[in-house]
Amino acid sequence: MTAWSEQARASGKSIGFVPTMGALHPGHLSLVSKAKAENKLVVSSIFVNPIQFNKPEDLKHYPRTPEQDMAALSDSGCDVVFCPDVKEMYPEPESQVYDFGMLDKVMEGSFRQGHFNGVAIVVKKLFDIVRPHNAYFGTKDYQQLQIIRVLVRMEKIPVNIIACPTIREPDGLAMSSRNMRLGTAERKAAPLIYQTLQGAKERIARMRPAEVKEWAVNQINANPFLQTEYFEIADADTLMPAEQAHPNQTLVACTAVYAGNIRLIDNILLND
Ligand code: AMP
Repeated sequence: MTAWSEQARASGKSIGFVPTMGALHPGHLSLVSKAKAENKLVVSSIFVNPIQFNKPEDLKHYPRTPEQDMAALSDSGCDVVFCPDVKEMYPEPESQVYDFGMLDKVMEGSFRQGHFNGVAIVVKKLFDIVRPHNAYFGTKDYQQLQIIRVLVRMEKIPVNIIACPTIREPDGLAMSSRNMRLGTAERKAAPLIYQTLQGAKERIARMRPAEVKEWAVNQINANPFLQTEYFEIADADTLMPAEQAHPNQTLVACTAVYAGNIRLIDNILLND
C-alpha cells in the first residue's frame, strides 16, 4: 500500500482517502464520490477495528459484506481498497494513550470508554500507511471528526481533513451500517431521532439549552421502541456542554439512542 502511494505521490497524483469499517451504504459512497471529484486517485480502507469496540458483542455482530462493498467501491470510482487483517494492523498489543483533554470525555467518550483512543490509533496507522493528501470523514460521527482534526494537529500529520454531510434515508434516519440490524418496529420508530434534532434546532432560539434537552429526551423516550442514552447541546468546536446560547457561538445537538438493542447516533448544527 505504502509503495503504491509513494509512487503515486512521486508522479504528482493526489490521493484521497476514505477509511471505513465496511458494510457500505450510500453515506460511505458519498465520501468516495467527493474524494474522486477532488483527487486523482482514491483509496478506501475496510477494517473493522477491534480496539475501538467497547462491547465484544457489538464487534461480534458488526455487519460484514465484503463482496458487495468491493462492487460498490469499484462503481463509485475507488482505485484501491486496503483491507488489512487484525494481525497486520496490530502485530503487538497497543499501549498508546492519547490525551484529547475533555474532547473524548464527553458524550460518546463518556459512554464508550477507550473508543476514541482506539479510533485515533487506527486512523494514525492508516494515515501512516496510505499517506493521503486528503481524507474524508462523515459529519454523522461529529465527535469523531473533531477528535481526528485534533489528532492530525497533535501528530503533525500532513493531511487535509474534509468533513462530508450526513446522508439520510428518505424518512430522515441517518444511514448507518447498524440500521440493517433494526427490527421492524424499531426501524419505524427511528426517524423520530432526526425529527427531534430538527425540533431542537427550531426551539434553540427561544428556549434555554437545558429546556431543549429536556424536551428532546421526553420526545424520544415517549416512543416505546426508543431510549435516549444522552442528548447534549454543546459548543460545536470544543463539544463542551452549552448552558446558554451565545450569539457568536455555533452549537451542535448530539444524541445516542437505543432502538431495541441497536445504538444509533445522530447530530445537527443548531445555528448554521
Ligand atoms: P464507519 O464505517 O461507520 O466507520 O464510517 C466510515 C465513514 O463514513 C466515517 O467517516 C463516517 O462518519 C462516514 N459515514 C457513516 N455514515 C454516514 C452517513 N450516513 N453519511 C455520511 N457519512 C457517513
